[in-house]
Amino acid sequence: MTDKRRVHNLNSAEISKGTIIYWMSREQRIGDNWGLYYAQQMALESKVPLLVVFTLADSFIGATRRHYGFMLRGLMQVEERAAKLNIPFILLRGEPTHSILRFIEKEEAGCVVCDFDPLRIKRHWFDNAAKEARVRFIEVDGHNIVPCRITSPKREYGAYTLRPKLNRLLPEFLYDIPQIIRHPFLWHGVAEAFDAELLIRELKADERVGEVEAVFSGEAGASAALADFIENRLNGYSVGRNDPLADGQSGLSPWLHFGQLSAQRVAYSVAHMGDTQDVAAFLEELVVRRELSDNFCLHCSGYDSIEAAPDWARRTLEKHRHDPRRFCYSRVEFEKAETDDPLWNSAQREMLITGKMHGYLRMYWSKKILEWTESPEEAIETAIYLNDRYSIDGRDPNGYAGIAWSICGVHDRAWGERPIFGSIRYMSYDGCKKKFDLNRYCQIWKQAVL
Ligand SMILES: Cc1cc2nc3c(=O)[nH]c(=O)nc-3n(C[C@H](O)[C@H](O)[C@H](O)COP(=O)(O)OP(=O)(O)OC[C@H]3O[C@@H](n4cnc5c(N)ncnc54)[C@H](O)[C@@H]3O)c2cc1C
Repeated sequence: MTDKRRVHNLNSAEISKGTIIYWMSREQRIGDNWGLYYAQQMALESKVPLLVVFTLADSFIGATRRHYGFMLRGLMQVEERAAKLNIPFILLRGEPTHSILRFIEKEEAGCVVCDFDPLRIKRHWFDNAAKEARVRFIEVDGHNIVPCRITSPKREYGAYTLRPKLNRLLPEFLYDIPQIIRHPFLWHGVAEAFDAELLIRELKADERVGEVEAVFSGEAGASAALADFIENRLNGYSVGRNDPLADGQSGLSPWLHFGQLSAQRVAYSVAHMGDTQDVAAFLEELVVRRELSDNFCLHCSGYDSIEAAPDWARRTLEKHRHDPRRFCYSRVEFEKAETDDPLWNSAQREMLITGKMHGYLRMYWSKKILEWTESPEEAIETAIYLNDRYSIDGRDPNGYAGIAWSICGVHDRAWGERPIFGSIRYMSYDGCKKKFDLNRYCQIWKQAVL
């Protein structure tokens, strides 16, 4: 059964007796998918076919070949798994709102179930489609373990205010997820198979940011990565995660971002590994920090700009707006890792080459962009541009929250005042030197071929 608190009506149109459409978007998987599961329950009850529809926009917040490749290869696995379950997978091209509306009209669909997503562009698609449609649109939150709309109805100040709310509700939501079954009611249309490679070429995805060969996308890649983490790196996570040389993090964010992996599945599996410091530290990141990011983006529409800054941070950044900067780099200099700081350049090179940057360095990296640009506004834009363009897990609420935390004090408190930063928390090269073997890290990425 799907907990009704996961479900949110986007309009009040009738549910009619036609095919049920699951409009897959943020949750790109067949297993552990609350939205798909809910859609199938509806289809079984009405004895009608079930379709998975994915609307592929020709461009999406600067996504490149790296992102389209990762996503489309994952979707090919979705198509294959869905076919085995008698659930056709339809990929529609063009502007998503129009594509879905045209499709449901033609199909005389009974209802559309879509994913929860707090980002503006997705809210725009879902809300506009729901407004125009003559059938019911239902949103199901399959991304958050405790549904985002239920955890809190307002923007939270920080982890310290969200944590008790989540902890209170978590026992009601953290359980095994039911799986869908082979669908007994067949659709009589034709679902054309798609070719990821051909689509990437047609989309003219920016080839300058290539795919990362070593990261296998899709549900298969995700479950292998989860098993590897639990077996080899969960023990020691609480210490190892802060060392960029230790390979101490889970590395799961690309799959979580594309919804190829369910956070609830991850949390459920990890929670069963015992009541240890490592398990607690990991769940703090996976549950509290991750769900805080969704809360932030849902309740702060300016999540990717200075508008997101709390009052104290805005005042302090304003006061220090005209402080002299020792260095000021252009976006191109940042992009090409041509600053005067070997650590910053190394972190940037790591991201350019692998599509990932270690979590600890992400904080240092974005704070330095504030220190070396002309204004906080430009710093936010540059950090978002680079993170979204090169990180496989970019364009995610976690990224917008992480950059807002680093540059404009979101979910943080005021610290000692200093030039440029004012009371925004500062991070230094020397501080990093004390945390890990900085020279070795720089050596590795200096030699790596771009
Ligand atoms: C400037 C900056 C930019 C960031 N950009 C992104 C981004 O684009 N996409 C992204 O997913 N995360 C981003 N983060 C958050 C965090 O750094 C990454 O989620 C994490 O490093 C991913 O590696 P992992 O999966 O090995 O994490 P682990 O340490 O293994 O954590 C497990 C999971 O918990 C969640 N998590 C961990 N740390 C955070 C955090 N600080 N905030 C929110 N959720 C967290 C992620 O879903 C992560 O996959 C950013 C942080 C900062 C400071």
